[in-house]
Amino acid sequence: MADELLRVENLKKHFPVYEGAIFRKEVDRVKAVDGVSFEIEEEETLGLVGESGCGKSTLGRSIIQLHRPTSGRVNFDGVDLAALDDDDLHPLRRDLQMIFQDPFASLNPRMTVGSIIGEPLKVHDMASGDGLQRRVQELMDIVGLDPRYIRRYPHEFSGGQRQRIGIARAIACNPRFIVCDEPVSALDVSIQAQILNLLDDLQDEFGLTYLFIAHDLAAVRHISDRVAVMYLGHLAEIADSETLYRNPLHPYTEALNSAVPIPDPEIESGRERIVLEGNVPSPMDPPSGCVFHTRCPYAWDKCAKETPELQEVGDDHKVACHLIDEPERREEVDPAKSTGFGNEPGEVEASDDDAEDVELEA
Ligand code: SF4
Repeated sequence: MADELLRVENLKKHFPVYEGAIFRKEVDRVKAVDGVSFEIEEEETLGLVGESGCGKSTLGRSIIQLHRPTSGRVNFDGVDLAALDDDDLHPLRRDLQMIFQDPFASLNPRMTVGSIIGEPLKVHDMASGDGLQRRVQELMDIVGLDPRYIRRYPHEFSGGQRQRIGIARAIACNPRFIVCDEPVSALDVSIQAQILNLLDDLQDEFGLTYLFIAHDLAAVRHISDRVAVMYLGHLAEIADSETLYRNPLHPYTEALNSAVPIPDPEIESGRERIVLEGNVPSPMDPPSGCVFHTRCPYAWDKCAKETPELQEVGDDHKVACHLIDEPERREEVDPAKSTGFGNEPGEVEASDDDAEDVELEA
C-alpha cells in the first residue's frame, strides 16, 4: 500500500454574507464545504464529482489554501496546512498546485507564455536568467508545446494549447499534489482525451498525486483510482472507481451513474434514467437532516431529521445514507418514478443560488 500524502479532516469553508454599504454586518453564511473528510495516497488520483454549486471547487481551493478553511485540518505529509501562517505556508506552496478550468481566463493575456510558465519558478527562487529560459522551454517540450513559441501570447494559442500552458505552469516547481479543477470541461471533445492522456503521462513520469474535479462521473471514470461524490458541501459516497460504477449505494451516486452512457445500444436502450427534480438547494439554507432529502427518491421522515454519517460499508467504500441501516426500504421505491420526500412531480423547492457564484459576492 502506498503512503498517505493528504488527509482532510472535517474541513469546513463557510463564506460570510454581508449587508449594508457603510456599516457592514454579517447576516448569513454560505456553507460551501461543511465537514468533509477523506485521504489521498501518494501518486493516487482521487476524482471528485458533483453538480455545479456543490462546493467541489471550493474544497479543492481550501485544500491547497487558496481559500483559508473556516475549520478542520488538512494534513499534507504530516503538516497541518490550515494551521500555518502565510510565511510558513510559502515554501510548501511549490508542492501544491492547481490547473484551472478555463484556459482562457486563467492566463494573463498581457504576459508571454515564457513569463507565465516561468513565474512560479521566479516566485520560489528556483531559476533565473538563462537557466529560467531553459527550464521554461524544457517544460513546454514536456507538455507538447513548441519551445520556439516562448515569446508568444496566450491569444495566439488554441484552447487545448492554452491548457497545456496551464499544465506547464502547474508542474514548473516539481509539485507533489495538483488540484485539477475541471481541466477538460471547457475543451472540445477531441482535445479532452489528449489532455487527459498528458495528465496521465505526467503522473507516471513525475509521481504526481491528483485531486481531479469534474461535474459528471463519465469524465473521471478512466483517470481516477477512487472517486468521491459530493453534494451540497458534504461527501455522499467514496469508493474505488470500479465499485462506484458497478455498485453505487448512495441514491445521488445512483442518479449520476444512470446518466453515464453505456457503449452498448442493447443495454443502453433498456436502462431507466433517474432524473433528479430541481437544482441543488441553496448552501445558505441547506435542508435539515440529510441534505439530499429534498431530491432523494427514497427519502422518508428520518432523512429530514437525522444527518447520516459517512460509514464504512466495504473495502475502502464509504456511504452517508440511512438506507445502509434500513436496506429493505430500497425495495419499496422505484427511483426512476419517485421525486423525493414530500414532493409531487414539478414541486421540488430549489434555489438558483450557486455556491461558487455566491462565494464571489461574499
Ligand atoms: Fe436519501 Fe435518506 Fe439516504 Fe439521504 S439518507 S440519501 S434522503 S435515503
